[in-house]
Amino acid sequence: MNYKAPRGTRDIFGETVLGLNLLEQKAKEIFIRHGFDEVRTPIFEEAALFTRSIGQTTNIVEKEMYIFEDKKKRKLALRPEGTVSLARAFIEHRMDVSRSACKFFYSGEMFRYERPQAGRYRQFRQIGAEIYASSSPATDAEIIILAQEVLSSLGIDKISIHINSLGCEKCRPFFREALVKYFSSVKDLCEDCLRRLEKNPLRLLDCKIDSCKFTDDVPEMSDYLCCDCKDNFYIVQLLLKKANCNFTVNGRLVRGLDYYTRTVFEVRSSTVGSQDALAAGGRYDNLIKEIGGQNTPAVGFAIGAERALLAAQNVGFFENLKIPEKIFVAIADQELFSEAFTFAVKITKYGINGNKDISVFGPINGKSLTNQLKFAAKIQASKTIVFAKTEFENDKVLIKNMKDKTQSEIDLNKL
Ligand code: ATP
Ligand code: MG
Repeated sequence: MNYKAPRGTRDIFGETVLGLNLLEQKAKEIFIRHGFDEVRTPIFEEAALFTRSIGQTTNIVEKEMYIFEDKKKRKLALRPEGTVSLARAFIEHRMDVSRSACKFFYSGEMFRYERPQAGRYRQFRQIGAEIYASSSPATDAEIIILAQEVLSSLGIDKISIHINSLGCEKCRPFFREALVKYFSSVKDLCEDCLRRLEKNPLRLLDCKIDSCKFTDDVPEMSDYLCCDCKDNFYIVQLLLKKANCNFTVNGRLVRGLDYYTRTVFEVRSSTVGSQDALAAGGRYDNLIKEIGGQNTPAVGFAIGAERALLAAQNVGFFENLKIPEKIFVAIADQELFSEAFTFAVKITKYGINGNKDISVFGPINGKSLTNQLKFAAKIQASKTIVFAKTEFENDKVLIKNMKDKTQSEIDLNKL
């Protein structure tokens, strides 16, 4: 029987895995420099945590969650995103009360049952950051600038930052009402949107189905913001401008999760095809209270690692990859196996002339030298160090350069 990785998942190896590691390492360095601490939450949580906080009528909760029962009939879900898990951890460890730390970052696998396509998987990685306990619009600006800094550290330059304000519980109901009025007269709404019209009209703006497309006169939240929300959004924009962060105000931007309030944003790239959102986030001042914590305002974002890698790859990110030099240790005479073995152990531990950026293979016993060299070529070793009797008696080994096929002798004690 032939088994395959489940639909929407993939095996990651070679340059891609090195690329993802480098991308995450760069992001982590930036987060740490900005005062963020890393948190690792479990990959699965109680399903109710997500259904309650992300919103019953969102795509994630309606269609995309991997929910299962364990042997004790507990209803669990593979995490579809990181923000809610982090908020749960923040409350569980009483940090909402002590306020001892408030800037966190995470990176890890997320799971969503989506239709797989380029840049959209059922298992994917997100790198995210959250700041708790500040309601200042300066924190919104800080988060947006941070998302931009991480992406530009990867060399990604052709990005556009879309921002919007979704208002607060005071002003949003008026916007909802206007949306219901507008969409009630649109014919041919899809089945989901008909339901959204009743339960969650903001989600209509995010529908990808053609018959639900709206025209230019669709209501925009900016016309309904209350004075506080308007001032707030103005300050966010002012601070972004002062920091030379280019952005576009996009009155139709809504997010796929219900917990957002006020500022939301998305970072898009024109270089990665139709799945063009590399990162997204915003403010969520009610989430922590809603899931049982003390009232704690919060703002954060998540970068889609695979999409960011795709964009980075398009601007030569893979040229920065530090691929360790592969060294193969071979034996021309079988009785030198133990000497070659000890040598391989030594260079693995101490490197060659202090260079530890190497990857050591061999020796293999019971194979002819020709076969060993064939193997060395197959694994793309750049050098093969050959232990041969005549040279070894003079404390020397042969070094074969696998690319230009040249060969030289070198004193063992010089390695
Ligand atoms: P989209 O509109 O593309 O579905 P989203 O609004 O569902 O994105 P968020 O939940 O805000 O996305 O997640 C933040 C980022 O995570 C996205 O901007 C994207 O880069 C990435 N992402 C989301 N879903 C997937 C997926 N299924 N596969 C790969 N990356 C994803
Ligand atoms: Mg989505």
